[in-house]
Amino acid sequence: MIIKENQDEILGYLEDSSNFSGGHCDKVYIPENEKEIVEIIQMCNSKNIPLTISGGGTGTVGGRIPTEGSVISLEKMNRITDIRNDTAICEAGVIINQFLSESEKIGRFYPPFPTERNAFIGGNASTNASGEYSFRFGATRRYVRKIRMITGSGKLIEVPRGRYFADDRGIIKTDFIEVKRPSYTTPKIKCSAGYFSTPGMDLIDLIIGSEGTLGVITSVEVMLVEKLPDRFIMIFFLPSEERMFEFLYDVKKNFIRDLYTLEFFDESSLFFLQSDFPEIPGNSCAFYMESVNTTELMEKWLELSERYQAKDVWVGSDPKNYQRLIDFRHRLPENINSYFRKLKITKISLDIAVPEENFRELVAFYRRFSSQSGIRTVLFGHIGENHLHFNLFPVDEREKNLARQIYISCVEKALSLGGTISAEHGIGKIKYPYLRMMYGDSGIDDMINVKKTFDPRGLMNRNNLFPFELFFRKM
Ligand SMILES: Cc1cc2nc3c(=O)[nH]c(=O)nc-3n(C[C@H](O)[C@H](O)[C@H](O)COP(=O)(O)OP(=O)(O)OC[C@H]3O[C@@H](n4cnc5c(N)ncnc54)[C@H](O)[C@@H]3O)c2cc1C
Repeated sequence: MIIKENQDEILGYLEDSSNFSGGHCDKVYIPENEKEIVEIIQMCNSKNIPLTISGGGTGTVGGRIPTEGSVISLEKMNRITDIRNDTAICEAGVIINQFLSESEKIGRFYPPFPTERNAFIGGNASTNASGEYSFRFGATRRYVRKIRMITGSGKLIEVPRGRYFADDRGIIKTDFIEVKRPSYTTPKIKCSAGYFSTPGMDLIDLIIGSEGTLGVITSVEVMLVEKLPDRFIMIFFLPSEERMFEFLYDVKKNFIRDLYTLEFFDESSLFFLQSDFPEIPGNSCAFYMESVNTTELMEKWLELSERYQAKDVWVGSDPKNYQRLIDFRHRLPENINSYFRKLKITKISLDIAVPEENFRELVAFYRRFSSQSGIRTVLFGHIGENHLHFNLFPVDEREKNLARQIYISCVEKALSLGGTISAEHGIGKIKYPYLRMMYGDSGIDDMINVKKTFDPRGLMNRNNLFPFELFFRKM
């Protein structure tokens, strides 16, 4: 095991892809097996040392940033221990990009990977990540069959899917733990907000998306699907947002069977792609879709583009153009982040999803702020799942205050529409106030009780999901 104590070497572990600053820790442990992890956690328990878990560091909510104590990094636990047919067993530190390549080699595919492929598979399970194919295949949760985890009290547990369920009182009883699920019910939409909870739920679903607050996931067994059929990508540049919902519902009604991805970029977001793709037509917004590749389907799509008077249509059906359009999609979050980082402007970013019937109302609500607040905004993302990222870029104190108020208004609106405050990025250290708005004090109390069952001293990933003071107030 490597232990890093030199602060220069530790610096990289004090950040992720969020704006959360002020990270601090005294040591970074880099174990190579479960036995070493058990020893580290037991030592931390005996000395009361808080421990923060580090994956690939691509999280956007400060989850892996320590505020005290030590860090445990999974970077050396990066072996794919088995991969065949529809199953793979990965140590938590396997990098998603590498895993996708290995799956491809055996003619299989792992669908729920996030856009940022430097993430680790353990980080994905811990945040219930999803990505460009979740429109068709769903989030990480659906693919995890078994988890091995060292709990906050230092116990190795193995939780297969389908073995431990909540009873009528919400209690999940096993030979290693007895835990009561939170009394709220997680909305049935794309959601990564707090512990998952539904009547009769499976214990494994409590661990998936728990953001490292219950223990260190050491390995995950996941399901692989068949290699995807030949596909093409098309990007439709529509002249305005006026007909965007008509277009969306037309696509969902007539093309859904063969569709793999359905995303949207507003005019402001296209601005950030202009330097890489100068041929983007002006005054347009774009729909990005990926479909099974047949001549008949391609013709149908082109007819659709004519009906909606698209300003331009880009097609990626051969490997070179397909990759170019993948790059188009992937560049956007990176370009936005680097543009505003250079200007030292902190973005305020919403990750809300709502049920389909209320989606239009939410977007209209966002649009009022885009036009009236004077703050620069972008709107893009997973329109097929009623989940768009609405980002605000306030430039001074006045705008910052206004942006915070807008954030709260949008959260209130989303909750009134049956939505979630986080569809994919999680809560980490920055979204607790909104999690509280979503589930109330009693929901937070229920989460704290779950954490106490796995991590009685409250050492693991302090300040993720809720401030650790709340945990101790309830001791
Ligand atoms: C450009 C960009 C695009 C992105 N696109 C998407 C997207 O499409 N979809 C999406 O869902 N997310 C996306 N993300 C966010 C991020 O990639 C995901 O949240 C990812 O799952 C984080 O994985 P990681 O290994 O980097 O975790 P980290 O950032 O290291 O950690 C994330 C959280 O998981 C915990 N954790 C990590 N490993 C473990 C473990 N072994 N056991 C227990 N807890 C652990 C950490 O403590 C932390 O709380 C994007 C981020 C960026 C920068």
